[in-house]
Amino acid sequence: MKYVDEFRDRDKARSLIREIEAVVATIEVARHRPINIMEVCGGHTHSIFRYGLEGMLPRQIELIHGPGCPVCVLPMGRVDDCVAIAETPGVIFATFGDAMRVPGSRKSLLQAKAEGADVRMVYSPLDALALARQNPEHEVVFFALGFETTMPSTALTILEAEAEGIANFSVFCNHITIVPTIKAILDSPDLQLDGFLGPGHVSMVIGNAPYEFIARHYRRPLVVAGFEPLDILQSIWMVLKQIKEGRAQIENQYARIVPDGGNAPALHAVSRVYELREFFEWRGLGSIDHSGVRLRPAYAAFDAERRFALPNVTIADPKSCQCGEVLKGVIKPWQCKVFGTACTPETPLGALMVSSEGACAAHYQYGGEHVQRGAA
Ligand code: SF4
Repeated sequence: MKYVDEFRDRDKARSLIREIEAVVATIEVARHRPINIMEVCGGHTHSIFRYGLEGMLPRQIELIHGPGCPVCVLPMGRVDDCVAIAETPGVIFATFGDAMRVPGSRKSLLQAKAEGADVRMVYSPLDALALARQNPEHEVVFFALGFETTMPSTALTILEAEAEGIANFSVFCNHITIVPTIKAILDSPDLQLDGFLGPGHVSMVIGNAPYEFIARHYRRPLVVAGFEPLDILQSIWMVLKQIKEGRAQIENQYARIVPDGGNAPALHAVSRVYELREFFEWRGLGSIDHSGVRLRPAYAAFDAERRFALPNVTIADPKSCQCGEVLKGVIKPWQCKVFGTACTPETPLGALMVSSEGACAAHYQYGGEHVQRGAA
């Protein structure tokens, strides 16, 4: 297939669903409990809700919407740090648009902007570097967040700033890494997962080898998946086929984009600029060892955490917020007590309602009252 419409073909989707139903019917465990498959990536969550895929699947399959939306897992304390930097006189704070509405304990970046902070929306770290060139009398701070997908562009921007000798540019680094997170999920006693849809964009950078431990040590299948409806359905079928055959392997459904070995120049830039943090806090999931990166000491001059005094406080989510339970798949978005009432995309209480890749925002936009099963 060559064109995007072909990956959205209804007849092919129906035929894949029939294949899925046929495989599920032969899996013994599906007679006693649901087969739990986690899509790790927020892009998959968005597609699943947008195309109503969950409702087309047999009842025996439970999709768990994982923690792969970086905006959704940003803890409140880090948002408070952003606001503190943005409110520092002389600072231009550059951020991606969807991060502006994430609630902090006092306010979001959008509210800080409304109150006078110089917060600007950018589309890439290079836009922030351009702001630094254009405004030499200001400190320009880029709010860097995301998994391995966006890590290389931040790293390359820092290398560019260093090469040009730009002294008024720094990065507030909140990049996170996927593999320790999947390991923490697999070690969680709350969850019984039978397989994974692996993140297509992250895998474009890191390749498939880092997931091998999932098959080897945890005996769970993972299929790196694309983002169109047929990609996702085919990947679910591939996971189920492995379960049926008693296999646990790493397979690549998204081979048209994801090279098995990843992107070597991107990985080189990442390892040159970052080092692992001992631990990093995730909203709803707590602290996960080695799940975040910071700038290496060689790039301290570009590290906003060293250049600014930050509150650096851990803040608990509001009591009514059940983001952690949604992230772990313990409840569905619409089962949260405040879904659609106190928490909506216009007035998000939790971060899963902010980004279009958040399970709550995606369900609010596309999900209807609740997902009806068996409606293919
Ligand atoms: S409805 Fe809001 S508070 Fe509840 S889980 Fe979703 S984002 Fe979090």
